[in-house]
Amino acid sequence: MSILIVGTIAFDAIETPFGKTDKIIGGAATYIALAASLFSKKLNLVSVVGDDFPNEAIQTLIEHNVNPKGIQIKKGEKTFFWSGKYHNDMNTRDTLETQLNVLETFDPRVPQEYQESQFLMLGNVMPSIQKKVLEQIEKRPKLIVLDTMNFWIEKFMQDLQEILNKVDVLTINDEEARQLSGEYSLVKAARKIKKMGPKYLIIKKGEHGALLFNNEEVFFAPALPLENVFDPTGAGDSFAGGFIGYLDKTKDISFDNMKRAVIYGSAMASFCVEKFGTKRLEELTNNDVGKRLQEFIDLVKFDISLTQN
Ligand code: AMP
Repeated sequence: MSILIVGTIAFDAIETPFGKTDKIIGGAATYIALAASLFSKKLNLVSVVGDDFPNEAIQTLIEHNVNPKGIQIKKGEKTFFWSGKYHNDMNTRDTLETQLNVLETFDPRVPQEYQESQFLMLGNVMPSIQKKVLEQIEKRPKLIVLDTMNFWIEKFMQDLQEILNKVDVLTINDEEARQLSGEYSLVKAARKIKKMGPKYLIIKKGEHGALLFNNEEVFFAPALPLENVFDPTGAGDSFAGGFIGYLDKTKDISFDNMKRAVIYGSAMASFCVEKFGTKRLEELTNNDVGKRLQEFIDLVKFDISLTQN
């Protein structure tokens, strides 16, 4: 099967307590695709870069199962740029700069051959772009997942509300869930957000794991306690890539399978943070993923016999 992914391809400059990078390759769509490539053989990507973007980076995506037909390269324009600085706890960060550049005038086009995509991942990008892609889809995919962030919630709430109505799953972090709902309690926030449209809601809580909400049910996936976290950039996108990649691979969108998909998402996020930028995701093998999943199983496995109480 295949996944249509929309999102930014970017240059990032990152500062963490462990170091600082100049412009490196990043972007929501990049992280989503690299993570999903461990599970899905066909990734259709809609995005845009300037002619300052290195061809080798596009080649890397192609080597990771990406069909690049929907990536526009704008002559004489600059690629989207984001820079951020992480606080000492590595769970929170400040955006230092966002230069929209090519995104400002981006008119996304979904190539005809992408219409076969069974899953749609509306990754983090301007809500109006996510909406334009949604409008070009001829046949509703099996599942539509939406990701967004504080930057867009703050500036484009109306556009966002329109698409929220049309998606199945929303993935956001705890701060964004509070911002979107105006509720501090995440349970109350989830109830309010689900009323805005999505049937399922995933709230990512960084090193404290992730929550998957459906009706009145909630499932918790832990984050793996890691000895070294070098750079959390892209963890949320890697999570989304692992989540939708696993669903695409298994072709099963039941709530029980989504619980497994959330664990796969958490595993991909745990890899992402181990090195700066996309490095760790690029080198991953299926064997690495298998071992990491076993660590997740061992982390939460316990025996309690309720009949003895
Ligand atoms: P994450 O850490 O999962 O939130 O994703 C970080 C990635 O998101 C970086 O590689 C950035 O290039 C990208 N990014 C940062 N700000 C935005 C934005 N406003 N819209 C879309 N992508 C962004």
